[in-house]
Amino acid sequence: MFSTKIHLLILSITLCLGQLRAQYTTVQSIPDPKQRGNFFVSNPLNIINAEEEQELEQKLQQIERESTIEIALVIINSIGNNNPKSFATDLFNYWGVGKASKDNGLLILVLIEERRIEFITGYGINQVLTDQKCVDIQQSYIISHFKQEDYARGLDRGISEAYRVLNASRDADGVYRAQPKPTSRIEQILLLVISIWVLISLSTIFSNFLVKKEPYEKYKRLDFVANDFWVILPILFIIGSGIGLWFSGYPLNHQIYGTISLALVLICIYSIVALRSHYRHAKRNCPKTGKPMAILDESEEDEYLAKGQVTEERIKSKQYDVWATHDKTEVLVLQYKGTARKYSTCSKCSYTTNYLRNSVVTSRATYTSTGSKRQDYECKHCHHKYSKTVTLPMLVESSSSSSSSSGGSWGGGSSGGSGGGSSW
Ligand SMILES: [Zn+2]
Repeated sequence: MFSTKIHLLILSITLCLGQLRAQYTTVQSIPDPKQRGNFFVSNPLNIINAEEEQELEQKLQQIERESTIEIALVIINSIGNNNPKSFATDLFNYWGVGKASKDNGLLILVLIEERRIEFITGYGINQVLTDQKCVDIQQSYIISHFKQEDYARGLDRGISEAYRVLNASRDADGVYRAQPKPTSRIEQILLLVISIWVLISLSTIFSNFLVKKEPYEKYKRLDFVANDFWVILPILFIIGSGIGLWFSGYPLNHQIYGTISLALVLICIYSIVALRSHYRHAKRNCPKTGKPMAILDESEEDEYLAKGQVTEERIKSKQYDVWATHDKTEVLVLQYKGTARKYSTCSKCSYTTNYLRNSVVTSRATYTSTGSKRQDYECKHCHHKYSKTVTLPMLVESSSSSSSSSGGSWGGGSSGGSGGGSSW
């Protein structure tokens, strides 16, 4: 009789332990707190004690009364081999956490054995409670308590912070909108540089209509905005960082400014391309005699070009248009940029025919010393050769960046799986 009792006791302890070890491998197997009444916490294994559960329950009910936000809290041991984020997303959508009209649900899944917490946010609040924000809240408010196995305290603080973040961006209609972010310094500088380019482009385009100049000169005036602007970019960035200070913290509506800038840039690019083509092919008269000129084709033009110019045109470092009067007595040679960018000016013959023929690493850079390489240059026209030695910078060990994966009844909310997760 006595031993039977002992056996029963052992059996029941084993059953209890089995219960504690239980794995919930399907979303259907998770006890739904809404089936017990208007509850939000699913804590079937009593991982947090009854008193802690009660306090969190009251907190979540109060949040729902104040804001209609539904926060489902699931604390279980394990989901086996399931992926926590997709499991949590499936559970969110299976239960339909959040009011359907607002999609203002948040599901918090705590997996003790996997040492993992996942936040899943509904469509209506994921603009505010972004994936990054979810991870930030977990890292700053929850994980330290979880490490000490004080799950209730971590959840209490994390839920308070999530609710504070949501409340801070709730407008009068109860819709959660992301607050316009102050533009970052790099965006301000970029916007400034783009604005300067648009300004210079537009003023060059318009002044070209006003000034009386040869089409070739008008073409060259557009070279700056079409090609050479990037040369002054470093200077603009330095000036821009200074001016950027004035605007810092000033919230810009990115969509409006972005759309306007993009439209202006496209208009400018189109105008520049169209005008340059127009200026290059515009009918012209001899500047001396005023006689009409015609453009010579490739086969005719070479006899009016120097040998170096022919080489430049062959290797595409420069382009030449040769215009001549009908009797070929007056000839006009007009130079344009080529498409090949690898050529530089030869120090001997002065044509744009110098290129990097070969580059050899003579000593490798290491983490402790610089290296060097030899660069051999040659001129395509006069075949002048020279070499120079370039120092290779010391290697820098890349620091590995810490990464975080972005991981009654419910109101029928849905989620696309936004949210974030953390391990502890
Ligand atoms: Zn040369």
